[in-house]
Amino acid sequence: MANITVFCRFRPLSSKEKRDNGDSVCIRSMDSETFVFKDEKEEEFAFSFDKVFYEESLQADVYEFLALPIVRGAVNAVNGTIITYGQTGAGKTYSMEGPSILELDDLKKGLLPRVVDGLFECIKSADKSDKYRIKLSMVEIYMEKVRDLLDLTKDNILIKESKVQGILLSGVTEICISDPADALQSLSSGIANRAVGETQMNMASSRSHCIYIFTVQSELSDKRVKTGKLILVDLAGSEKVEKTGAEGKVLEEAKTINKSLSVLGNVINALTCGPTTKASHIPYRDSKLTRILQDALGGNSRTALLCCCSPSPLNAAETLSTLRFGARAK
Ligand code: ADP
Ligand code: MG
Repeated sequence: MANITVFCRFRPLSSKEKRDNGDSVCIRSMDSETFVFKDEKEEEFAFSFDKVFYEESLQADVYEFLALPIVRGAVNAVNGTIITYGQTGAGKTYSMEGPSILELDDLKKGLLPRVVDGLFECIKSADKSDKYRIKLSMVEIYMEKVRDLLDLTKDNILIKESKVQGILLSGVTEICISDPADALQSLSSGIANRAVGETQMNMASSRSHCIYIFTVQSELSDKRVKTGKLILVDLAGSEKVEKTGAEGKVLEEAKTINKSLSVLGNVINALTCGPTTKASHIPYRDSKLTRILQDALGGNSRTALLCCCSPSPLNAAETLSTLRFGARAK
């Protein structure tokens, strides 16, 4: 059985949502795992997840419940994936980075800076005779093309598979990071490259998947080398594009995103369907996203899916679709 945990997070109402619709929300909390969701027709649905983070939830709690076990795993050569899913504006990037990747306020820091701290802390407390190395790569998938965010000249990275190393991004930049400050600098320049791409190619970050790959290599005292891969994914927005109006590039983008998100759903679903599902039947190859995640989703790896939602009734239709995606992944 795949080791997949599914979490749900509601961000606070935005000032625009408050202005347009007051303080009303589309959920009623039951406990830390269950809530009742009310759709546009006042119909109620109960949803349960491994944990629900309500509006007032802390970034530190999200890290502790969702990411810490996966960080510990990666240092012990167990691959892991952390994915944020949801419509644009639902809080994916806030959960992943915080208001900015270089945020100093500990209350606001997102998962990425905490993961970096966590990796170095785990290494510090590990057996002193083991030698560790952490490498970072960052890529973006836009229209099924993989772009290296640490070197923009590499704008079409190919995905390969090797018997020894598993899934590989051929020629991708890998930066050795020596401490958390160093890692944050690299992350920050990669994220800035995403923004450069946006103006150059007129691409909004919400239309691409951003993938952060940490590789933790350890040489044990007996000379054995172990590798753990920790992948964080800030997905493209899951919103449906209006059927009327969308044409040309926008429509192509929307179709490509919908396809890759539905393949991700199918892969997770196949993995959670139990031991009867043969690895050969898991449709990793149907999208670049799932292909890259292949060995961090399957096998003995751990995955956490964070479904990000707006609590506003104005977004109820998209929220219901996000909750259904999450419920299907359990
Ligand atoms: P997404 O990446 O899903 O498109 P963002 O993470 O950019 O959405 O969030 C949209 C807005 O909501 C941003 O202004 C962000 O700062 C704010 N926001 C999201 N989640 C929270 C939260 N948990 N607490 C406070 N503000 C949040
Ligand atoms: Mg975002």
